[in-house]
Amino acid sequence: MSKFDGKVAIITGAASGIGKEIALRFAALGGIPVIADLNLEAADATAQELKAKGGDAFAVAMDVVDEAAVEKGVADTVQKYGKIDILVSNAGIQIVKPLVDFPFADWKKLLSIHLDGAFLTTKYCLKHMYAAKSGSIVYMGSVHSKEASKLKAPYVTAKHGLIGLCKVVAKEGAEFNVRANVVCPGFVRTPLVDKQIPEQAKELGISEAEVIKNVMLKDTVDGEFTTTDDVAEAVLFFAGMETNALTGQSLVVSHGWFMQ
Ligand code: NAD
Repeated sequence: MSKFDGKVAIITGAASGIGKEIALRFAALGGIPVIADLNLEAADATAQELKAKGGDAFAVAMDVVDEAAVEKGVADTVQKYGKIDILVSNAGIQIVKPLVDFPFADWKKLLSIHLDGAFLTTKYCLKHMYAAKSGSIVYMGSVHSKEASKLKAPYVTAKHGLIGLCKVVAKEGAEFNVRANVVCPGFVRTPLVDKQIPEQAKELGISEAEVIKNVMLKDTVDGEFTTTDDVAEAVLFFAGMETNALTGQSLVVSHGWFMQ
């Protein structure tokens, strides 16, 4: 019997990378992950993978910037399971370019997926969490919630912004026993990072190996990537905390790249 037995968690962006790992670990602990992703085919495949292991899971088509889709995904979840215990707002993208060349449309697209997505999923889940007087929200931040890097103006801006949103949710949610926290990973080898390596190499005029060693992992204590497992562990730690003692906080999981 685990503390997640029968708990329902909407996890956005759970068809790939970090979000998928969170879903797999949550399900392994008896939880029911709702795989909410833009990519319904991959979300369905993840849900089938989990069901084949004997658990339950629900795939939901959700573009986190589409208010109607978020509202429907949350409503469908509540209709099926009667509640939402946990929201992991994780869906995200990366676009790297120097500020002077950053297309305004790309700036807006990135901010929208990270910030509008977090706002909309929070807003619609909170209504149900408040009614149940219980809930936990975990935002997927980044070391870039605390630190800057070249070429990542909107990403750094958005990830810093999530800490502000988390603190407001912590204050407004407290009387309803709803907590909010942020997990801030260092670099993790997922499709999001694999795409970035050649792009950064091109922008910076260096090799892909140099991007990994001298840009991405330069300031870690051991030159190691953070893993999806490491991040999932931290997310489930926050998600499983049952009192308001731990709310409005952020935890950096980065092999010492950033130290508080
Ligand atoms: P990923 O590309 O492997 O997975 C992202 C998932 O989000 C995909 O399944 C994609 O379909 C989904 N998605 C994208 N846009 C969406 C939208 N509008 N609506 C719904 N789903 C959408 O990436 P990842 O590395 O697992 O990243 C997950 C989160 O972790 C992101 O917020 C990212 O910023 C954050 N993060 C990643 C790293 C890293 O090094 N990989 C480090 C720190 C933080």
